[in-house]
Amino acid sequence: MLTRNAIRALPKCELHRHLDGSVRLETIAELAAHHNLDLGCSDEELAERATIGEPMSNLQEVLQSFSITQKVLCSYDAIKRVAFENVEDAFRDGVKLLELRFAPPFISAGKNDLGNDEIIEAVLDGVDQGMEKYPIQVGLIGIVPRPFDYSVNHRATEDIIRYARGRYKHSERICGFDLADDELKITHEKFVPLINRAASAGLGITVHTGENTDARCVKKSMDLYKPRRIGHGIQAAGDDSLLNRMRDSGIMLELCPTSNWLTHSVSSIEEHPLPLFYRRGIPLSINSDDPRLMNIDLVHEYEICARYYGLESDDFTKINREAVSHSFLPDDIRKEVLKTCF
Ligand SMILES: [Zn+2]
Repeated sequence: MLTRNAIRALPKCELHRHLDGSVRLETIAELAAHHNLDLGCSDEELAERATIGEPMSNLQEVLQSFSITQKVLCSYDAIKRVAFENVEDAFRDGVKLLELRFAPPFISAGKNDLGNDEIIEAVLDGVDQGMEKYPIQVGLIGIVPRPFDYSVNHRATEDIIRYARGRYKHSERICGFDLADDELKITHEKFVPLINRAASAGLGITVHTGENTDARCVKKSMDLYKPRRIGHGIQAAGDDSLLNRMRDSGIMLELCPTSNWLTHSVSSIEEHPLPLFYRRGIPLSINSDDPRLMNIDLVHEYEICARYYGLESDDFTKINREAVSHSFLPDDIRKEVLKTCF
């Protein structure tokens, strides 16, 4: 079996990593001190409060754990730093092509002096700094979180599109659009106009679905949003005709085994359906989701795939090549990464 060092050295493509789920503990502490923020816990308690080590009772409880990182993402400088460190962390995991996602409405919530423009520019500038320092290609995915007011999400969608199509430095890096957060208490139809708007502006569509819900939500999301990729989608595993449809349509699943275990969406790592999807020929990518929050790195997720699902070096090469070809970044960048790294 591949050693941890051998896995780290493998070139990787990661398509599903959240900026606000990937903030270093020392960065949280420094930003809180710098901005005089009360995190509601002592420095000693921070590691316990800002990370999840054991499965929580459900996805909703895990989503609440983001409150600490949400607080410290409070200024242009703070967000730029975290974006840069995300690129650095990914590079150290062996990532050659990264798609990093962030939700302006979530980051700006409760902060009167922080708007979408400042957030988007900070992320673009932090990523730019990372790409100048490291040989890595980075794309950005703008997220609207389902439970937020529709008007807030509508404004965020328009702002994301304005930057993606605008002239800000490296704004072409904004290449995707995502729906995230709990899909239990929402109406799927409500988000169709936002998805259509983003798709017609040229952004690649991915949606979080079938994480803690069921196969019907995955099917509904595919029918309504026509996404090119799906975040998780693991509840499709029990629906044979849906699996065939996914394989035939070439939709890619962005899979995150540890995250699904910690949110109680699978009962154990061993029972994760990743090997089932792989055997069925459904394109998939291996991702860390919220690595710092979940106290893991991407190398850890590959170790799981090797140890529990029997994947070997050739499997990882195949998976990563497929992941690069499903990236939302422009053709020339994807081709160059495939040629030079895989
Ligand atoms: Zn996610």
